[in-house]
Amino acid sequence: MIEHSGLPRLSIASLGGTVSMQAAAVGCGVTPTLDCEQQLLQVPQLREMAQLNVTSLCLVPSASLSFRALLDVLAWARCEVERGARAVILTQGTDSLEETAYFLDLLWPFDAPLVMTGAMRSASQPGNDGPANLLAAAQVALAQGSSGRGVLVVMNDQVHCAARVRKTASLAMAAFESPGFGPLGEVVEGVATYRHPPDRREVLPLPGRTDQRVALLEACLDADTALLQAVPTLGYDGLVIAGFGAGHVSGSWSDVLEHMTPTMPVIIATRTGKGPTAGATYGFSGSEIDLQKKGVHMAGQLCPRKCRILLWLLIGTDRQHELPRWLPS
Ligand code: ASP
Repeated sequence: MIEHSGLPRLSIASLGGTVSMQAAAVGCGVTPTLDCEQQLLQVPQLREMAQLNVTSLCLVPSASLSFRALLDVLAWARCEVERGARAVILTQGTDSLEETAYFLDLLWPFDAPLVMTGAMRSASQPGNDGPANLLAAAQVALAQGSSGRGVLVVMNDQVHCAARVRKTASLAMAAFESPGFGPLGEVVEGVATYRHPPDRREVLPLPGRTDQRVALLEACLDADTALLQAVPTLGYDGLVIAGFGAGHVSGSWSDVLEHMTPTMPVIIATRTGKGPTAGATYGFSGSEIDLQKKGVHMAGQLCPRKCRILLWLLIGTDRQHELPRWLPS
């Protein structure tokens, strides 16, 4: 801990991702290399803003993070707040950021913000955005208005809500959006500003089990039912379907789902990337009216990937029966 009396305490941990990546030699591709201290070298201002506690929890591409690793990260972050940190920042890869942020948000019990950020360009590339994103994350983390908002994703000077944010572009600098909602706020000239006061939050207790498995399948044109039928036989505890349009599947998938819902929770979300599932518009076989009669849960505004996170945590806390209450319409 670096001492600067009177400054708030800010804890920062890195998990890896592009923000930590460099190329070892020309043409060999970037890999996670920089620890958290090294990432901070390009943002000297941070040490004038706060007493920093800096650590590297892992150094992996974000597709290789796991729920168990995230529970360890959460334990570290909780400990930091309990020891007096005003806020916590995590840097990680952007590929799974929309999932990790929601996972941690469902379990984050404090008013103190947990801010997550990363980079679209590695440290080896000109115009890399890691340092600017880290500075903006710290400005958000230390802002009074960030309190009580749970986990926040800060990228490209925008502040996004963990439940809504999505990576909507593979390589663009402006890769994060909250489709249908917009960002919660922005960082302008170093100041975090929000459009609305914080919403009421509800969090889950820590999961008592972590061996549950939730499958995610996408409905697509002329798909056979082989994979769908295999889900229960492979030992999955729940299923999420990224459905057509407003939450639809084919008639043949609908027939299979009817036999699955008595034994496992099934959620259908939309694969479109924006907007809610329907509730009472279509009546054909495979529509939302048909699927709800067969015991399928409609995801509402929650995207398929976040539905899987939610269902995993609800099963892990033995709260599957609360699923409808957690799916925002
Ligand atoms: N392309 C990714 C990133 O932006 C790699 C990762 O997610 O680790 O960080």
